[in-house]
Amino acid sequence: MSASPTYLEVAVAAPLTQTLTYAIPTSGEIPAPGQRVLVPLGKRLLTGYVLALGEEKPEFRLKRVTEILDAFPVFPEGLVPFFRWVARYYHYPIGEVIRGALPGGLTSQSGRQLKATEAGLHYFLVEQPQLAQDYPWLSVLLNNKKLSAATVRKLWKGKEKRLIEQWAEQGLISMEQIISGASIGQKTETCILLAGEPLAPEALANLKPSETKTLALIDDLLPSSTQGLPRRELTKAYSGAGKALASLAGKGIIRLEERPVYRDPFGETPFFYPRPAQLTADQENALAHLNPAIAQKKYAAFLLHGVTGSGKTEVYLQAAETTLALGRSVLVLVPEIALATQLEAHFLSRFGETVALLHSGLARGERFDQWQRVVSGEARIVIGARSAIFAPLADPGLIIIDEEHDGAYKQEDSLRYQGRDLALVRGSQGGATVLLGSATPSLISYQHALSGKYTLLNLPTRIENRPLPQVELVDLQAVNTVSGRPPLFSPQLKQALRSTLARQEQSLVFLNRRGFAGCMLCSDCGQAVQCPHCRITLTLHKGRGELVCHYCGFATNSRTVCTNCRSINLAPIGFGTERIEEELAGMFPKARIARLDHDTTRNRQDFLRILRAVHDREVDILVGTQMITKGHHFPHVTLVGIVWADAGLGMPDYKAGERTFQLLAQVTGRAGRGEQPGRVIVQTHQPGHYSIAAARDHDYPRFFEKEIGLRKALGYPPFSRLINLVVDGEQEEVVQTRAEALTAKGKALRRYQKTAILGPAPAPLARLRGRFRWQILLKGPNLEELHGLCLELEQEHTRLAGAVNLSVDVDPESML
Ligand code: ADP
Ligand code: ZN
Ligand code: ZN
Repeated sequence: MSASPTYLEVAVAAPLTQTLTYAIPTSGEIPAPGQRVLVPLGKRLLTGYVLALGEEKPEFRLKRVTEILDAFPVFPEGLVPFFRWVARYYHYPIGEVIRGALPGGLTSQSGRQLKATEAGLHYFLVEQPQLAQDYPWLSVLLNNKKLSAATVRKLWKGKEKRLIEQWAEQGLISMEQIISGASIGQKTETCILLAGEPLAPEALANLKPSETKTLALIDDLLPSSTQGLPRRELTKAYSGAGKALASLAGKGIIRLEERPVYRDPFGETPFFYPRPAQLTADQENALAHLNPAIAQKKYAAFLLHGVTGSGKTEVYLQAAETTLALGRSVLVLVPEIALATQLEAHFLSRFGETVALLHSGLARGERFDQWQRVVSGEARIVIGARSAIFAPLADPGLIIIDEEHDGAYKQEDSLRYQGRDLALVRGSQGGATVLLGSATPSLISYQHALSGKYTLLNLPTRIENRPLPQVELVDLQAVNTVSGRPPLFSPQLKQALRSTLARQEQSLVFLNRRGFAGCMLCSDCGQAVQCPHCRITLTLHKGRGELVCHYCGFATNSRTVCTNCRSINLAPIGFGTERIEEELAGMFPKARIARLDHDTTRNRQDFLRILRAVHDREVDILVGTQMITKGHHFPHVTLVGIVWADAGLGMPDYKAGERTFQLLAQVTGRAGRGEQPGRVIVQTHQPGHYSIAAARDHDYPRFFEKEIGLRKALGYPPFSRLINLVVDGEQEEVVQTRAEALTAKGKALRRYQKTAILGPAPAPLARLRGRFRWQILLKGPNLEELHGLCLELEQEHTRLAGAVNLSVDVDPESML
């Protein structure tokens, strides 16, 4: 017999690395792991999360938990090891990890709601009717079938609590945790269904003309005999259908029913994505590997490398089916709100109710409701953006990461985590199959697939053997201009835009360029000036008149020579999507032009509004950053123009080549998904660059060979690991001094021989929101050393104190 647990391990929502131990509250109530509690810390009361229960009394005197905040856990116990791993690996306080993972709005607003069960109704109304007289709240419960959270909170403080708990144990009433907030609950619409038997000819002859027309339209529009036709669809096609519907229903010819209807994000077409009659041989093969792995219920990782339009989604759907049939749940991560909409649609139409959505487009209350559906086990498929990696599924058997190469999986502030990497961690802790999918896999994932760490599954061709688009490269260096400087638009691209406009078709014009400190571009060879030590683009610091490497700190006068061809014709570069939009408006004054980038889309609504305008053909030319590569498929887009394919190559980043390849391949993949093959024009200063040439030829393996060789030569990941430490503060000298002190400390520590300390150097975004920023880059092959050194530098920083801040970025994706 073991004693009942009396000690709790609690992660407090505060910047503490360690967890704390508390004694159970004076009430004697014992919370479960995953429940929130209120605990004293110093003079304050803070929220904490129960991680574990213990029986051993620790050596020291303990404070008690002040109050238990939840009736039920807000996350499953199975997530505790995952939270511990995340906190340790990313050097982040565990309580803050958990706070960030939970949906906002988990405040005192939340509470328990009581409902009477069927058995309870019988018991209280028939067997023990006097109880409702003794307890007025019980009669309210019986009348309304439930009690509000506010009422329950009051009851909970009184002596009724024991009674309620007893009745709950006996199954007479049920308790649910809720929050007041709008529910995104299932939307229903009136749907039209045909009533059973076909009509006799004489019945048909007696119909009014409007009824005949309506019936004919229903026949036309009805997607299948079992699925209803939403009324709205019909009245859109024929506004006179309203009356006819009522009379047809009255005559028993049709039925009208309220049914859930899933619509695309434009609120347009309801989608019924039917299961394809037959899988392709490649899809079959992929599932022949996946299904047995899922059935094993052990950790296994797969990389699904499928070109755009090869049918990856269907593989996801059927793997999900296998998992659900085994009684386990499914977690699907998508890079951004945009993609969520497409995949969402497919999963909703196949699995309906069991799908929960967790994305940034949801209001607080909605997000909480979705979270609650997952905690309670009601929803068994979760689709969400990167933070959904923390979704409270008790037992995910399959974790899917769609577009696994996408930079959106990296969170770039507070807890800087990589959602894709965490999927593998969560999968290995929980014995799940992890499925990474992409047309352009990240270098790291492909490397793991080749080394056998992941199983590689290929979908090399498009469905129905639709051809991949033809890509034309235009060498900007060869375009003659009056100024001698290359133009923004080559004659080829201008001409193509003009004829596309004339045909009243649509164009996408792509430039991936956010505003950031510029670089110097060689007018002769088109390459940006690079650091001689790191092969990283040097960043222009205008004030200092210097070009700086923010990896190693190397600096040189901005009037230097090209590192590639020794030319002295260097020009600072700086233009973005806004400038492109302006130039296009000048060239084509009558064209309707829209822009899609971070400046024009603050939220999901803006994003959808612009996409919708394109969808409705209210836009002739859509200008945008990589956001447009993730939009919906637009059948009337027949031209994709890439203004400056090497824009990304000017980024001060060892991943510049990889990103450029991925972006170009993704943008070109937008074309030719409809009936017409479409045309892609790529403007570049470096037509011979391996990233650009391989993207033109849709040749991933060639790109991989070249890129992996370069990484190896310079010892970049996957041949080493990186941790970037950023020091920021209001005064530049203080920031610089601290960065130097930490670097000196690190270099003096002899234990870390395999780890290089690069820098300190000013960050490429040397000033951000009024704060100066310097960085130190740790680089080495030994993970233990790297993290050990990082910890010592953090301790040194804490010891030195002062008005500077240190943040840690493990496995940095970008060092802006
Ligand atoms: P990807 O995600 O790989 O870019 P999709 O999953 O969007 O490709 O598939 C492209 C199209 O092919 C979709 O319209 C999908 O419904 C369709 N499709 C997928 N599998 C099949 C199949 N086995 N037979 C017929 N059509 C299919
Ligand atoms: Zn040059
Ligand atoms: Zn350097």
